[in-house]
Amino acid sequence: MDYRSVLTTCTYCGCGCGLCLQVLDGTIIGTLPSKTSPVNEGKLCVKGWYIHEFVQHPNRLSKPLLRHDGSLREISWSSALDHAAAQLKKIKETHGPDSIAFLSSAKCTNEENYIVQKFARATIGTNNVDHCARL
Ligand code: SF4
Repeated sequence: MDYRSVLTTCTYCGCGCGLCLQVLDGTIIGTLPSKTSPVNEGKLCVKGWYIHEFVQHPNRLSKPLLRHDGSLREISWSSALDHAAAQLKKIKETHGPDSIAFLSSAKCTNEENYIVQKFARATIGTNNVDHCARL
């Protein structure tokens, strides 16, 4: 039996609480708060206590899917990016940049969220940017 406690940071919100994932034989089985984290000092909110449940959930999206004739089929990352770029270009040319909106995520880093808003404003030309923490 291989048991490990892996110190990491909660990804649910910008507070960045420290926590320890309990890993048994390569499977995450639980979460404990980090007592040494200056952010949460041994406490977690209810989302943090159950963060281990989504990581290995079988329904979690891990590969790009493209809807075709009403059903989803797996495609490569490069095909997904090509498809998204072509569709964004087509929508922008047909309906204008403000017909596109970007919704970012609290699960991204600050740097990733910065890139999303920069891409929206500088590349697409819209200020339609929002974030899941406001929903
Ligand atoms: S434990 Fe709760 S408060 Fe702390 S980072 Fe996670 S979601 Fe935010």
